[in-house]
Amino acid sequence: MERPVRFEHHRWLGDKRNQRVHDLDNIADACALDELLASERFAAFGPDLLAEARNRGYRPCGHCVKVAAASAAE
Ligand SMILES: [Zn+2]
Repeated sequence: MERPVRFEHHRWLGDKRNQRVHDLDNIADACALDELLASERFAAFGPDLLAEARNRGYRPCGHCVKVAAASAAE
């Protein structure tokens, strides 16, 4: 799946509906990113880090967030 052009400068994208954060560098079809973008209930982070997403209460998506990245942010 292609990275959405509007987020070319972001890596992490949150879904406000279920408090999941996706890794745009490793996005999977199962993430249903098209559906998330269509809903416009997404969130970008500043700084654009998994740790920042976690600080805001987002949990890593199991489809696209690699275990190493997730554990490194613990
Ligand atoms: Zn995902």
